[in-house]
This record gives sequence, C-alpha cells and structure tokens, in this order.
Amino acid sequence: FLPHLVASLEQVEETYIMVKPDGVQRGLVGEIISRFERKGFKLTGLKLFQCPQELAEEHYKDLKSKPFFPKLIEYITSGPVLCMAWEGVGVVASARKLIGSTNPLQAEPGTIRGDLAVQTGRNVVHGSDSPENGKREIALWFKEGELCQWIPAQAPWLNGVI
Ligand code: GDP
Ligand code: MG
Repeated sequence: FLPHLVASLEQVEETYIMVKPDGVQRGLVGEIISRFERKGFKLTGLKLFQCPQELAEEHYKDLKSKPFFPKLIEYITSGPVLCMAWEGVGVVASARKLIGSTNPLQAEPGTIRGDLAVQTGRNVVHGSDSPENGKREIALWFKEGELCQWIPAQAPWLNGVI
C-alpha cells in the first residue's frame, strides 16, 4: 500500500492547533483532540505547555496593532495550553472549518467554537490560517525531537487507492 501513500506527499500540509487556556481549564482537551483524530488527520506533536509572554507575542505578531492585543496575550499566557501539530492533505483549511468562525456566536453548530464557546475573547482553540503559517507556528511552538513521524495503521483505509 506504500505507493499510494507516497503519491500524494506533495499535497500534505501541516497545521498548528492549540487548545487555549479556557479550553484546558474547562476540560475540553479530549473533546477537541477527538474531532481532529476522528476526521482522519495525523497527530505529529502534542504537549501541555505554559506559554511565556514573548512566545505569545511572536505567535500573534500580525495582530500587534489591534486594540485587543494586550488582552489576547494575557489570555493566552493565563494558564497552560495544549499544543498540537496535525498533518494531512488539505489539513489547514479543513481544520479551520472544524474550528469555526473567530466569533463563536457566528460559528456554525457542529464546529468546535460553534458548539463549545460564546465569546471571541474565549474561543477555546487556535488553528493556522495558511500552510506557510502552519510550518512557521509548528517551528515556533515545538523543538526538534518533539515531533514524531509515523504511519498510522488506518492510513490505507483512510486514504484509499483512487
Ligand atoms: P482566528 O484565526 O479565528 O483565531 O482569529 P484572528 O487570527 O483574527 O485572531 C486571533 C485571536 O485573537 C482570536 O482567536 C481571538 O482569541 C482574538 N481576537 C480576535 N479578535 C478579537 C476581538 O475583537 N476581541 C478580543 N478580545 N479578542 C479577539
Ligand atoms: Mg488567526
């Protein structure tokens, strides 16, 4: 079954998904991991981590000029976050769909934010917005040796031979 796994390698993307401190404190970590896991994406990195101020600022540097930036940094550093790296064809856009709109009140039911949150300032989860940012953010949050390359047993059943 290896040839068809290798065939789509160039379309494989990586995304950085993070359960924010409210999601960790509310006991939603398992629920959120499950949604990506059941969809069929591959987990390549996972850790619980207390984010230092500088890392939060670097991660959200594009939002530095926004009025809510100080509150955002305070939020992200207010308790441990769950850092995850996920891999798959089309994983970046698909994960954003699974997560839902930034404002949870506008997020569709069935999405993580649509089902589990009510406020933009407490929207439980982060997902990279492009494949480039996926790579950038994974490199920012994970050290070398913290990521794992593996072939899930379910791979041929998920990806199939078309
Ligand atoms: P995302 O990609 O859907 O997470 O949204 P953005 O990249 O636009 O913003 C990053 C994060 O900043 C959001 O997930 C929110 O946690 C926070 N944020 C965005 N807009 C606002 C806002 O108007 N007020 C507050 N308090 N937080 C915001
Ligand atoms: Mg964003």
